Amino acid sequence: MTINIILLGPPGAGKGTQARKLEEERGLVQLSTGDMLRAARSSGTEMGRRVAEVMDRGELVTDEIVIGLIREKLAEGGNGFIFDGFPRTLAQADALGALLDETGMTLDAVIEMQVDDAALVRRITGRFTCGNCGEVYHDETKPTAKPGVCDACGSTDLGRRADDNEDSLKTRLLEYYKKTSPLIGYYYAKGKLAPVDGLAAMDEVGAQIAAALNGK
Ligand SMILES: [Zn+2]
Repeated sequence: MTINIILLGPPGAGKGTQARKLEEERGLVQLSTGDMLRAARSSGTEMGRRVAEVMDRGELVTDEIVIGLIREKLAEGGNGFIFDGFPRTLAQADALGALLDETGMTLDAVIEMQVDDAALVRRITGRFTCGNCGEVYHDETKPTAKPGVCDACGSTDLGRRADDNEDSLKTRLLEYYKKTSPLIGYYYAKGKLAPVDGLAAMDEVGAQIAAALNGK
């Protein structure tokens, strides 16, 4: 029995974390567009050369190319797939639906990671990371015991990601609302939508996803 799911939600909703959990627990394969493009680039295949050409010209890779890469991945088979970051638009959702039909695969659920915008802004802008060991902290919810010093390794190399600021996050959120949020209605109408509380603790979110996939 295979499971194919889409993780949908704004940037910072925790899609990557849940995708890794599903990979570990269910042996699913995460299909992240960015990773696929990087892998294709270095693969030396015909498709890889096309991807490299487009990216080197500084252009966006077309939906057709991304669908081509997904088609190659699906052909490898396995326990199922997690689509993370794709589809991002209604046109991509239609294209993915057609591809799944063509390959005889079903989409089991679209997990919508629901988050409150204000809470999301607090979550993202309060985040900082140890540059030495990678431990992640938060101003409000997980400060270091001693200011400016990593609890895990003692390093003072604590920093924030350049795009973890309020303006950058609001730009990314607006992009999500304009282009991607229509997918919520699209998949609801198809009976595939499973909303979960993206701001709950990681294990609780995992439990809600497991409940949405109940019996699958
Ligand atoms: Zn550290």
